[in-house]
Amino acid sequence: MVWNDNKKMGVQAMLLNWFSRLLDNASGTGDFNNSQKAELAIEQLRFTARMSTILAMAGALVAMVLLYTAIGSGHFQFLLAWSVVVVAVNSAILFQSLKRHSKSKKLHPEARVRTMIAHTALMGLIWAIPPTFIFPSAGPELKLVIALSTGGLLVATSLAFAMQTKAAFAFMTPVAIGSVTALVAANDKAFGMPVMLLLLVCIMTSVRMLLVFGQNIAVQIRSRIAVREQGNFFSLLLKEFEENANDWLWEFDAKGYVHRVSQRFETACGLPHEKLANHAFLDVLANIHAEALVVEKIEKLIELRETFRDLEFSIEIDGTKRWWNLTGKPNYSIDGEYQGYIGIGSEITSEKTAEIEISLLAHTDSLTGLMNRARFNEEMDQASASLERYGTPFAVLFLDLDKFKLINDTRGHLVGDKLLKMVGSRIQRVVRETDRVARLGGDEFAIIMLDKCDAGAAAKLAARLIQEISRSYEIDDERHMIGVSIGIALAPVNGTRPNQLLRNADLALYRSKADGRGVFRFFEAQMDADQREKRMLELELKSAIENDEFELYYQPLMSTTTGKPTGMEALIRWHHPIRGMISPLEFIPIAEKSTLIQEIGNWSVRQACLAALDWPQDVVVAVNLSAHHFIGSEIVENTRKTLEETGLPPYRLELEITESLLINNTEEALTTLKQLKGLGVTIALDDFGTGYSSLSYVLKFPFDKIKIDRSFVTALSEDESAKAILRMISTLGESLNIRITAEGVETLEQVEFLRSIRCHQFQGYFFARPLKGIDLPSFFLRHTDVKAPEELLPTAARLAG
Ligand code: C2E
Ligand code: CA
Ligand code: CA
Repeated sequence: MVWNDNKKMGVQAMLLNWFSRLLDNASGTGDFNNSQKAELAIEQLRFTARMSTILAMAGALVAMVLLYTAIGSGHFQFLLAWSVVVVAVNSAILFQSLKRHSKSKKLHPEARVRTMIAHTALMGLIWAIPPTFIFPSAGPELKLVIALSTGGLLVATSLAFAMQTKAAFAFMTPVAIGSVTALVAANDKAFGMPVMLLLLVCIMTSVRMLLVFGQNIAVQIRSRIAVREQGNFFSLLLKEFEENANDWLWEFDAKGYVHRVSQRFETACGLPHEKLANHAFLDVLANIHAEALVVEKIEKLIELRETFRDLEFSIEIDGTKRWWNLTGKPNYSIDGEYQGYIGIGSEITSEKTAEIEISLLAHTDSLTGLMNRARFNEEMDQASASLERYGTPFAVLFLDLDKFKLINDTRGHLVGDKLLKMVGSRIQRVVRETDRVARLGGDEFAIIMLDKCDAGAAAKLAARLIQEISRSYEIDDERHMIGVSIGIALAPVNGTRPNQLLRNADLALYRSKADGRGVFRFFEAQMDADQREKRMLELELKSAIENDEFELYYQPLMSTTTGKPTGMEALIRWHHPIRGMISPLEFIPIAEKSTLIQEIGNWSVRQACLAALDWPQDVVVAVNLSAHHFIGSEIVENTRKTLEETGLPPYRLELEITESLLINNTEEALTTLKQLKGLGVTIALDDFGTGYSSLSYVLKFPFDKIKIDRSFVTALSEDESAKAILRMISTLGESLNIRITAEGVETLEQVEFLRSIRCHQFQGYFFARPLKGIDLPSFFLRHTDVKAPEELLPTAARLAG
């Protein structure tokens, strides 16, 4: 009761509280958090519940023996009354604990533990009575029995309550104090001294034993909770992965046995759960007839604990050949102990078969049986030629499916392929015989209307296509909905040459998508004007470097632990002579269409390195690199040269890339990244969480850092799942040893949450906006004497304000 009410705490309660904390610290549970405390309490209750009946019976029996020895002595009546109390209290406690058994489960375990401690304290007081009040005046026989029973009870109780240090102490303390006082009071040198010594030995051994037990249990509970949390983390990881990607995760333990089998892994193997879980991974591969050479190779790599990436091989399930792509890496615990492998696999059968078929059928789209792009271009040439010769008009319709990518990514390529086939046949049902239908690739289709193709007819066809394609699709007992956007160019009104017409149909398609999808649009001259403006910008962009119109701003990356800036992200700005400052979001996509992006990238790296030379030695400069910069460029050589010429130590340069780099040409991109890393620079994965398959990339390349996309941080306050995802990313980072930066941090609430999940770095307006180079010295000056992390907040708030 005293424990409950802190406010009314008297001296006694304070003492008890102090003693309780002392015991917690001595038994290693002092720093337990709430969930650990609850776990400990449950464990204690489970153990002592089993002991309480036997302890109550033993108590009653010992009381009887004492009573029997006292027959005929002056103490008999007193002891009789005392025995009745012992039996009554024991039965009451036992009865109560049995009666409340079902109901008490609802009570908080820690409250139940407190009740138990109160009970043992009461028992301790009762058992302190014989040694304290009877022993001094008892005859030798009774003295002996009292000494024996008291010592025995002390040891028995410390064993029975080994899990519950506090309850044991609650019992032992009154008994021990009573006994020692009585022995001193008895002043019986012949008998009292040896008994006293024995008692002290008993007490000391029991105390020591209790503390050791307590510590052991604390360690056990800690590790059990850690293991469970890791389990939770992995199931969350698995779930997120399963929902978002077409791939599956697999995992085996240090002995090579598969565990945590996902539904998708089962499906991929065509085996039931029992045939996968706890079976050797290599045996599973052999069971599904994976190519023997590859299995051998994997076995060797596993022996060497090496990572393997994108191993492509065939398997056979029920006589059907399929293709897999497998990636895996060894998994180590925090203390470096090998724990097996974790990896991803994906089914690439359709890609493989398509590859083979395409080479056979040069002119048809192997999936839908429609024309392919090459054939379509030929048809366009013919239509254009006959327009020139006979003046026969025609129309071009570009179709782009909406939401197809989502279905393909979440339901798998097999479903995606079926869907494309169905779309193809629906289109063919709608068009006339004279129309030409092609699949240009992915989810893009095109139609050439050759007969009666004025604007009205084209609009009619487009409307019917939208209606037909938007009807639901039944695939493998699942219904899917997609939409379609259509762009139309009319010949000769919108052009006569194939290139011109295709481009205009494309611009119209672009507009129909911008107008909300699921609609069709005709090409209009304005679209051309917009396009031309973009082209203007592109031309002006070309001279921007020479004219010195670019500038790098720097946004601080703050350490979450020291509160000091540990990095600066370089963010480019374009000072346009007429239009003023233009955001990178506007001009980088334009630059990406040409080799300009490489020039800009190289310029940024050089500028950033030069700037960093003037900063404190421990501040890293981070530069954004576009995926397009990697295409056919000498990025590695350029970076090496820049580092050499500027003299910036490579570890102070960080390159930020987005996963779009890895989506196409993964192998090539990974090689380039590795070479860059080989220079000693670090690589950060930017905008993490925005793409569909970020997870697989994190496993495929050893990133030094993940930057969590701003959208997650922004969503924090409203969206619980954003929190769960952030927690997961942080745990993922921890187990893969990757540092985590959170971007777009704008509020104190976000700071507090992100700090609680152990992010390493913060970036955002809460700390500082991107700063001009000229403002950096004063920023550093203000932040070099910040000593404690607590000082971070006020400083940051001042800055943000
Ligand atoms: P990013 O790499 O994700 O950069 C972070 C962007 O978020 C920056 O916008 C920054 O000003 C903004 N930001 C930072 N903190 C906050 C915040 O607390 N709240 C909000 N709302 N925004 C914040 P910026 O400078 O407009 O850059 C936009 C994007 O342009 C960058 O996104 C990056 O992808 C690209 N970019 C910038 N500089 C370069 C460059 O030199 N090269 C290349 N290739 N891309 C660049
Ligand atoms: Ca960035
Ligand atoms: Ca970013």
